[in-house]
Amino acid sequence: MTTVPNEPYRRPSFGFLYLPPYRVQGYSIAGEETFVQVPELDVCFDIGRAPRLALTSNHVALTHGHMDHAAGLAYYFSQRNFQGMGVGTVLCHPLLVDAINKVMTAWIDVERQRTPYKLVAMQPGDEVELKNHIFLRAFKTDHSDESLGFVVVEKRSKLKDAYAMYPQEKLVELKKAGEEITYTREIPLIAYMGDTGPGDHFAREDVANARILITECTFLEQGHRSRARAGKHLHLLDLAEILPNMKAKHVVLTHLSRRTHLGQAREALDAVLTAEQQARIHILMDYRTNRARYKQQVADAEGTSTPPPPEPSEAQA
Ligand SMILES: [Zn+2]
Ligand SMILES: [Zn+2]
Repeated sequence: MTTVPNEPYRRPSFGFLYLPPYRVQGYSIAGEETFVQVPELDVCFDIGRAPRLALTSNHVALTHGHMDHAAGLAYYFSQRNFQGMGVGTVLCHPLLVDAINKVMTAWIDVERQRTPYKLVAMQPGDEVELKNHIFLRAFKTDHSDESLGFVVVEKRSKLKDAYAMYPQEKLVELKKAGEEITYTREIPLIAYMGDTGPGDHFAREDVANARILITECTFLEQGHRSRARAGKHLHLLDLAEILPNMKAKHVVLTHLSRRTHLGQAREALDAVLTAEQQARIHILMDYRTNRARYKQQVADAEGTSTPPPPEPSEAQA
């Protein structure tokens, strides 16, 4: 009797959460691969190995240069070029620009063809407009020399209270005369922390007030806090200290270690976080829990006029 070898394992599914009005989708395992895409904001935080799903974002906000976050950069540009999707823009710390230019130059020699690409350096504090009224802001985190976090903010022009009772014609007149009748109101939508230890970046007003906080939490196990410190990562006990100051309706955990079994992760969260905190927490790669939640969202939406967005295919990439 002949034996037939096993098929290769299937690529694990992407993580997917529908946190209205945003989809938060991607893949994130510490040291292996991390990218987190928000299609509605046209941005992919980090690029992982640039699977097909991630190519559709016109912006890649790179938090730092570690391979698990940055390996796919050249492939992102190459595939977008190959598929006629336009050049795409990678936003990164100024310290990484030379090195990424070298990588792209090396590929010209390897492939004997030139791939168009666009790099934009962002210092902490810099902003880039992603789409109308929506801006990406970079800030410093504590992981490596160049590590950045990002917050996406919406800027809305609002009429100053003093002019609230003025008729429309009068407002137009004042505006023409150069009077400042409006002010800019800023609404932080999503904060993405990348790899980082704890620190003041979590106390920033735009981060603390973001509607969705996406943060790493690499270490959950008891006794691993010193390992988290050494690698400049977050431990669950750090998260427990940070959470009370966070207004986010949803907190998405990424970058869990591969060793962490999801059942154990839930137990660890149970032991440390309050029920109110746990109700806000999602683990990006907890496929089973997130899928059940999504099915419920679909069921709840049935019979209403707005259909939910399509579920990403498991077979992609
Ligand atoms: Zn990492
Ligand atoms: Zn890292």
